[in-house]
Amino acid sequence: MLEVLMSFFHFLMSFIGVFFSLVGFAQVDIVNLSCEMKTNPQGIEEVFPRLGWQIKSGHRNVRQIAYQVLVASSLEKLTEEDADFWNSGRVESNNSQHNVYSGKDLKSRIDCYWKVKVWTNKGESGWSVPAHWSMGLLYYKDWSARWIGFDRAFEWDNDAFHSRLSARYFRKEFKVEKQIKSAKVYLIGLGLYEMSVNGQKVGGSVLTPSPTDYHRNVKYNTLEIENYLQKGANAIGIVLGNGRYYTMRQHYKGYKIKNFGFPKLLFQLEIEYVDGSRQLIKSDNSWRGTADGPIRSNNEYDGEIYDARKEMPGWDSVGFDDSQWLIPDYVEQPDGNYEAQLNPNMKILRELKPVKITRLAQGKYMLDMGQNMVGWLQIKVRGSEGDSIVMRFGEILNEDGGLFTENLRDAQATAQYVLKGEEEEQWEPRFVYYGFQYVEISGWPEKISIDDFVGKVVSDEMKGNGTFECSNSLINQIYKNAWWGILGNYKGMPIDCPQRNERQPWLGDRTVGCLGENYVFDNAALYRKWLDDIAYSQKDDGSISDVAPAFWRYYSDNMSWSGAFLMVAEMLYRQTGDVRPIQKHYKAMRKWLKYMEGRYLSSELVMTKDSYGDWCAPPATIEEGRGKNANIKCPSELISTAYYYHFLNLMQEFARLSQCENDIKEYKKQAKKVYHSFNSAFYREESQTYGEGKLTENLLAMALGLVPADEKYGVARTIIKIIEEDNNGHLSTGVVGTGWLMCTLTDIGQDNLAWKLAANTSYPSWGYMVENGATTIWELWNGNTAAPKMNSYNHVMMLGDLLIWLYEDLAGIKTSEEKTGFEEVVMEPKLVDGLCYVKGSYQSPYGEVKSSWAKAENIFLWDITIPANSTARVSVPANSVSGIKENGKPIQESEGVSVLREDKGRVVLIVGSGNYQFESRIF
Ligand code: BGC
Repeated sequence: MLEVLMSFFHFLMSFIGVFFSLVGFAQVDIVNLSCEMKTNPQGIEEVFPRLGWQIKSGHRNVRQIAYQVLVASSLEKLTEEDADFWNSGRVESNNSQHNVYSGKDLKSRIDCYWKVKVWTNKGESGWSVPAHWSMGLLYYKDWSARWIGFDRAFEWDNDAFHSRLSARYFRKEFKVEKQIKSAKVYLIGLGLYEMSVNGQKVGGSVLTPSPTDYHRNVKYNTLEIENYLQKGANAIGIVLGNGRYYTMRQHYKGYKIKNFGFPKLLFQLEIEYVDGSRQLIKSDNSWRGTADGPIRSNNEYDGEIYDARKEMPGWDSVGFDDSQWLIPDYVEQPDGNYEAQLNPNMKILRELKPVKITRLAQGKYMLDMGQNMVGWLQIKVRGSEGDSIVMRFGEILNEDGGLFTENLRDAQATAQYVLKGEEEEQWEPRFVYYGFQYVEISGWPEKISIDDFVGKVVSDEMKGNGTFECSNSLINQIYKNAWWGILGNYKGMPIDCPQRNERQPWLGDRTVGCLGENYVFDNAALYRKWLDDIAYSQKDDGSISDVAPAFWRYYSDNMSWSGAFLMVAEMLYRQTGDVRPIQKHYKAMRKWLKYMEGRYLSSELVMTKDSYGDWCAPPATIEEGRGKNANIKCPSELISTAYYYHFLNLMQEFARLSQCENDIKEYKKQAKKVYHSFNSAFYREESQTYGEGKLTENLLAMALGLVPADEKYGVARTIIKIIEEDNNGHLSTGVVGTGWLMCTLTDIGQDNLAWKLAANTSYPSWGYMVENGATTIWELWNGNTAAPKMNSYNHVMMLGDLLIWLYEDLAGIKTSEEKTGFEEVVMEPKLVDGLCYVKGSYQSPYGEVKSSWAKAENIFLWDITIPANSTARVSVPANSVSGIKENGKPIQESEGVSVLREDKGRVVLIVGSGNYQFESRIF
């Protein structure tokens, strides 16, 4: 109903929009309304949600002057006279993002409809199309349902090391007798659930909800199911899988992996009828359940086993005979807080057809997907009852064409399907995923065809945030590999890899990477959730876990790993202007720094704890690394002290944003001292180098502002020398150093050297991976020759700051640091030798920013788009102001453009919103 009404409004408003634009009015429109940075979110818990919108206009240089927001309990009341939640009145403000709702108190369950209009320097908009949000269950007392489940293994289950636990099925029938106004489900299904109503799966999400450390918090989902219900009898069916709750390894040396118990369910369906009455259907002992269904086993590392002979047709529809099913147990609730899930659930985002099928010995086959992907395989098969197909998943092949699985360690990554013997059977797993390009198939009963298989690509459902393309096809391929890698490793948390017996959200892998990823995917909600995961991992003494949620009990206190807490918060502030994650976690960040200082800061002010070092730095030659385990820890006090300094600086800004002004002085004072202690401990003045003279050491000092002004030139020369001479034009950085590699080279004026590294194809480089068949990013620079035990072919950490560099330095799209969240855009593309065009776009909070340049001989052409209510500082490569034209005219005559300064072969302009076409003469 709601959707129908909303789409009618959409239609009406766009009709009105077209009408007015025809008659010359609506020159300013409002689009993309967001609440808590989400479109029409369901079940939020924020009682002071932030509202945002984007302005669209054919005019240039559009700035908002004022706005008015209306919020009401229904669409009918959404008028200036009747808005019963909030009528902001005209608010003089140019903020079009993060405007805090300040109407009536928001209670559990309520629906809020809202719209906005704005006044700009180019005229007034009409009212926007209405948007919506609903509140979740704010208090524990709102949950009257009981937790149900089976707190035991059944005869066919097995809780050995490679645990096998069947999925648990629950059902409930009930009647609907009146006309429904709304029907909302609030549910927590642990570890994973799938829900159907009257035999139809609800929504398109898979592998829900997002994993958390269930001792600390559990996520509930809110789903509107009115459209699935019918008058009379209805049936709800819920299947529970293990996920991370009944975790993948049991009895794992007793300490390493947390186990939370058997799957369980908390469910509440709240129906509101048109006549105002309500009905509540909740999980309790009137439900029926069984664990004797077709999913015989599901284990994230090992895979799923499905026996179609055990299917229970109609089990989730009305009238199914459940007399043999069991009454579920009332089970203990998980310890964690109940929280609304605001980060996206996973979804099947695309389908891939395999590219090749090969026959192997012993009736086996090898399927090649043509792409290292994450998700699963759907099969179509004919055969006899009891035929059993086994599929093993792997990333690469052995030399003999067989499946290489050594790098999966003890993850069995297998799917088994037992046929029921019908005409044609179709199957795909539900509670597991695989990281693979190849599938070895055995037991296929009849003739096999490539058309019997479809790869389902599974990841968090996020919008793309940007596009990048340039005239170099290798870079385009690396970008594509990065896209696949990032996508594959978003699993309700950013994991390290999707295939081996690990799949853990390691903090150090994302410190810098999260920013580069944000240019590709709208990952803000995921990373907001991850910050909560990190905060929940904090021990009473302040220590932060190496992986969060802390499924593994690793607290090794590496500055450069736990520091993701600060750096991710910084990324969110920088890209989206969202200050709340910083404010929310400021105290915990402070506590962590105090803990590190108390425990590891020497009297000389050197931070002495770092055990991962520049993790996975490349062996000097491919031969040297052959067959070697890359897991060589290289502790480095230089890394931890440099990061410490960086965090002291970040904390000054965070203290300001958190209104903890008193702390600023303290951090500033300490930062000053550490600057000196760092230099006296690590700087070798005679050779103008840091530490042992490694590239990472010098990059860190330079990137984090630790090099004294009069030494900068010398240290820059050192960096260049290491790359050009010692490394023969190559990088030599691991996960820490690569994070600061490309942008630092650009900062020291070495764009062309950075470009050389980006476009390299010899070892070690991203291009080397591509040349050796990679379709994602490898964990190790020498992934093709290293020892297999720690060698994933789909790890994103080695991207370092490459994506940031592509967007910010090549395309020239970044936010200003003073006006974050792209309130002011900074555009300064670097024209490296050998690149003749770059096209980039980014969906900023204000709307799309575009930059597309091309150069030929001494002419530079540049098309840019700046969204309304944003401005840009645009640095045009040109010899002088008079050498630039905009849309064919001298720039002085161009609307929305003013000249700021001329600067070494560049002219810096201040540009208002709109589309611009620059043409300039370069050298
Ligand atoms: C993971 C890495 C992680 C590292 C830290 C590895 O096994 O895959 O991504 O950062 O351990 O020790």
